[in-house]
Amino acid sequence: MQTYAYGYPRLGENREFKKIIEGYWQGKVSEAELRQGIRELERARLATYAQSVDAYPVGELTLYDNMLDTAIMLGVYPVEPSNLNAYFELARGADALPMTKWFNTNYHYLVSRLSPVSEFKAWWRKPLFALRRWFETEMFYHAPDVSDAEFHTHWNKPQQMHAEHHTGYPYLIGPYTFLRLSRGLEPEQLPALLETLTPTYAEILRSLSESGAAYVHIDEPAFAMDVSEADVQAIRAAYHTLGQTAPILLFTYYDSVDFLPQLYDLPIRGIGLDLVHGKRNYDHLAQHGFPSDKILIAGVVDGRNVWKTDLEATATRVRQLQAQTGATLWLSNAAPLAHLPVTVEPETQLDPALRERIAFAKERLQELRLLKTLLTDGANDATRAWNAYQHPTDHWYSQAVQQRVANLTPEDFERALPYAERDKIQRERLKLPLFPATTIGSFPQTPEVRQMRQAYRTGKISAQEYETYIQNQIRELVQFQEELGLDVLVHGEYERTDMVEFFAEKMEGIAFTGQGWLLSYGTRVYRPPIIYGDVARTEPMTVKEVAFAQSLTPKPVKGMLTGPVTIIAWSYVREDIPIEQVAYQIGLALNDEVRDLEAAGIPIIQIDEPAYREKAPLKRADWDAYFRWAAQAFKLAARAKPETQVHTHMCYSEFNAVLHYIDWMDADVITMEAARAKGEVISAFEHYNYARQIGPGVFDVHTPAIPSVESIETVMERAIRVFPNEQFWVNPDCGLKTRKWDEVVPALKHMVQAARNLRAKYGAS
Ligand code: GLN
Ligand code: ZN
Repeated sequence: MQTYAYGYPRLGENREFKKIIEGYWQGKVSEAELRQGIRELERARLATYAQSVDAYPVGELTLYDNMLDTAIMLGVYPVEPSNLNAYFELARGADALPMTKWFNTNYHYLVSRLSPVSEFKAWWRKPLFALRRWFETEMFYHAPDVSDAEFHTHWNKPQQMHAEHHTGYPYLIGPYTFLRLSRGLEPEQLPALLETLTPTYAEILRSLSESGAAYVHIDEPAFAMDVSEADVQAIRAAYHTLGQTAPILLFTYYDSVDFLPQLYDLPIRGIGLDLVHGKRNYDHLAQHGFPSDKILIAGVVDGRNVWKTDLEATATRVRQLQAQTGATLWLSNAAPLAHLPVTVEPETQLDPALRERIAFAKERLQELRLLKTLLTDGANDATRAWNAYQHPTDHWYSQAVQQRVANLTPEDFERALPYAERDKIQRERLKLPLFPATTIGSFPQTPEVRQMRQAYRTGKISAQEYETYIQNQIRELVQFQEELGLDVLVHGEYERTDMVEFFAEKMEGIAFTGQGWLLSYGTRVYRPPIIYGDVARTEPMTVKEVAFAQSLTPKPVKGMLTGPVTIIAWSYVREDIPIEQVAYQIGLALNDEVRDLEAAGIPIIQIDEPAYREKAPLKRADWDAYFRWAAQAFKLAARAKPETQVHTHMCYSEFNAVLHYIDWMDADVITMEAARAKGEVISAFEHYNYARQIGPGVFDVHTPAIPSVESIETVMERAIRVFPNEQFWVNPDCGLKTRKWDEVVPALKHMVQAARNLRAKYGAS
C-alpha cells in the first residue's frame, strides 16, 4: 500500500510566495531573486511531501495560476514564459484574463477565451522542465558526489539512473477540465475541440514519458461535474489516445464521477477518486467494481475541511474497498490540499481543544502516513493518539441555541405577508422616487481607515478614540451621500475588515487562526474562520453604527449584514451536525440583529449573499436540496416585519439557471453584478417573470475607469425594457471599498445624473 498526496499549498509557512511575488511587482525583488526564491519554496514543498508520503506530483507550483499556465502551455496565449512581465500582464495587467471561482471553492482561476476553431500547440514545456529539475535535484540529493560530467552523461537515461527514486510525477491540468472551464464554447462544441486539442497533449505527454516520467499526474476535476454523453465519448476518445503516450494517473475530485465505468477500459494506469465529498463514488465502486489492472487512488483524507480524519473508521473503509475491488490501492487526499492552510503548528492561540481536533495540509500528510501504518502494521501509540480527538467537546455546545433550532416551525421561516402586500406597505413608508439610487454598502477603505483599525487592534488608540473616528467617517459619508442625491444611504462599513470576518468575530462558536491563510487568487490571501460550536450572537453587532447614520438624516439608511450561506461558504464548518443546522443557528443570530435594527428605526436591511450561488453543488441533481436549506437559512435571517424592506446582494452575473432559487429567498429587492457582463444578466430575466425589485449594477466597481452618464444610461435603458419601471433600482455592481475616493465621487455623480435623466424621461406617466 502506498501513499500519494497532491495540491500542497504553494503559499509557504510564512507566506513566502506572496512576499516574493509581490516584492517583485513592487520592484523590491529582482527577477533572479524571484526565481531563486520560488525554486527554494518548491524544494521545501517537495521535501515536505517526501517526508510523509511515498509519491507526489512535481511542477504544481505556479507564479500565479495553473489554469493560466495551462493556457500558455497550449499556446492559447503564446507569451514567452521566461518573460515574467508578459506573464504577469496576462494575470493582472490592464487586459488581464477575467477571473472566476474554481468549481465551488473560494479559489479564483484565470479564464481563457476560446472559440470552436481555436488551435493549440505545445508552446511551453512546463511539466517537462519541472520533471527535469526534479530529477536534477533528486540526483544530487541521492548521489551527492556525482560529477557534473557524470550527471550529463546520465541525463539522457534518467529511467535507469533513478528507477528506485521515481516518486515525483509531472503534473498537468487535463484537456477536458481546461476546455470545460474556458469561455467561448457552446456545450455542443466541446467534443470537437477536445479532439483538436488531443494531439497537443499527446505531444507533451510523449515528451514526459521519453524523459523518464514513471507516471504523469493529470487533474480532471471537471469529471465530477454533470458530463453529457457526448462529452463522455469525447473524453474516452481523448484518453484512449493519451493513455498510449504516457502512463497516466487521472485525478478527479470535489464530487463523484458519474461515468466511472466508462473510464475502466481506457489505457490509463490509475484513477483518483474523492471519497470524502464524493460519497457516491463508494456506490459506484460497489456496483461496478474497479479494474484489477489499474490503481485506485483512494482520496480518503479531506482536502477541503479541517477536522481530523477518523483513522480507524477510514482504515475499515479502505479494507472493505480492497476486499470489494481487489484493486491496487493508494491512499491519498480527497481534493487538493491547497484548500487548507499550511500547518496547525503556529496556532498556539487557538483553544487547545480545537487545535487538537484539526488538521491542515501538513497534518493531512501525517494522516496519510499514519493511515498506512495502521493498515500495514496495525494500530500503535501514534495512530491511537491521533484518533483520540474526533468529537466536539461539551463546552462548545449551547443548549439554548440547540433548543431554538429544534423549536423552529415552518412559520418561522416566512414573513407575515407575501411580497406584493409588503411592497405596498413599504412604498407607503419609504416614499422613494422612481429608479431609487443607492450603493451596495462599503465606501473606500482608505489607508487611513486601515491604520486606525490597526491602531485600535494593537492598543495604540482607545476604543473611545476609534469609535469617534468611525463616527466622524460616518458623518462625512452621510453628508456626502445627501449632497450627491442618493435616495437610500448606507453607513459605509468602515468598521469592517472583511464581510465574513467581521460577523464571525462577533459570534460565539466561531474561531480564528493566526496563520491560517489561503490563496484566493494570485497572491491574495484570506483567513477562513472555523465554525466549531453552536453559534450565537452575544450582543448587537451593527446597530450602533447604522443607527448613528440614521440619526443624521431623514433619508432611509440601509442596515448591512452578511447572510448565513456566505458566512458558511467562506468558513470551515463543523460536521458533527448537518450543515443546515449550522446555517439555521447563524440565521437566528442574524435575525436577532434584524430585530434590533428594526427597533432602532432602520427601515431597510440588506443581507448580502454573494456565496449563495457559488456554494451550490457541482451537480444539478443536488441543487434543490442545497438551495432549499440555503434559502431557508436566508429567510430565517431575513424574517423582518412587513414594513421593513429586505435587500440581498450577489456578486455574479450567471443567473440563468438559478433565478427561481433566488425567488425562494423571498427578498424584496435584489442587487447584483451586471455591468461587466454587458447586460447578460438582464437577458436571464427576459425569460423569467421576476416580480420583485431588482438593481442590476450599472457600473463596474472592479476597474478604476470612471463610467460616463451615457454608459450608465445605456445599461439602464436595457434593463427598463425587461423590468417594469417600478421594479428597477440604480446602484453599482458591488461595494466600493477597493476603489479610491477620486474614482467614487465622479462615478456616483454620473450614476445619480443618469437616474435623474431617466426619471425625467419615464417618470410621472
Ligand atoms: N455590502 C458589501 C460591500 O459593499 C457587499 C460586498 C460583497 O457582496 N462582496 O462591500
Ligand atoms: Zn458584490
